[in-house]
Amino acid sequence: MGLRPSLWASLVPRDPRQAKPNHYAEMARVAWENRDQLPYAWRILKEGVCDGCALGTSGLRDWTMDGIHLCMVRLELMRLNTAPALDPERLGDVSRLAGLSSKELRALGRLPSPMIRHRGDKGFRVASWEEAYATAAEGIRKTTPERFAVYLTSRGLLNEHYYAAQKAARALGTNHVDNSARLCHAASTVAMKRTLGHGATTCSYGDWIGTDLIVFFGSNTPNNQPVTMKYLYHARQKGTRVAIVNTYFEPGLRRYWVPSVPESALCVRASRRSSPGTSRFIGPRGIGFSHGRIWTPPPGSPTTTRS
Ligand code: SF4
Repeated sequence: MGLRPSLWASLVPRDPRQAKPNHYAEMARVAWENRDQLPYAWRILKEGVCDGCALGTSGLRDWTMDGIHLCMVRLELMRLNTAPALDPERLGDVSRLAGLSSKELRALGRLPSPMIRHRGDKGFRVASWEEAYATAAEGIRKTTPERFAVYLTSRGLLNEHYYAAQKAARALGTNHVDNSARLCHAASTVAMKRTLGHGATTCSYGDWIGTDLIVFFGSNTPNNQPVTMKYLYHARQKGTRVAIVNTYFEPGLRRYWVPSVPESALCVRASRRSSPGTSRFIGPRGIGFSHGRIWTPPPGSPTTTRS
């Protein structure tokens, strides 16, 4: 694909006046953070699946587009997989943890074994797997399926874990299964179901490329799922227009750099001042715009556009 200077935001590659992104510096910081486990971290990247989000990867590739698939979300999470074992003594009295930030709590390390805390205990103590299973089994036996529920959560749980766990719960006689993914996505699932009739995505990122118009509603994909910007880059290269409906024009959508695409160092994603017909930021009038786009006339009424 050729260069598209009309999409460039600046003639200064990686403009230092821009606060974000600075991927190479962030990559260096992640490498430093994982310095004690670099070969293992590299093996995770090269051979593992990413547990950062549900986009789907095999090592450093995906099944949608050629080229490297890697985003900072995955690198930021790397330490959670390479961290050393936590000292179980640190959990012996949980009141000592109360003042720690979430970053400091994560830095304690990974759980080396099952741990149990009974009501009234000051904290957790190490348990064998046998004891953990026996404790859970005893609790399940003491109750009825109607009063038994399974809740799953952990950073990095995969679809396969959820699948196996809900099967096990049903085999134990209950369909009370819940997880943190539902809490995260309940709002968007309901909104999509109501507006699109389907509670999940209806297309692949690959479908973006070649579209006429992409509309982002209140979204900050550059931060939340940076790899999307690569698909957006290729869509823009093919002439896609982008509209952003938000009360705030996210800096990452105004200007973004995809590390594996050198030209994107100069490439604007979406800008109020971009060349005609490329992209549009819709601020306070977003609700009117949304109604005009989503509203569909009732059957039999004249087809008009509301805005
Ligand atoms: S977009 Fe990022 S977090 Fe999601 S699967 Fe790809 S590398 Fe992982």
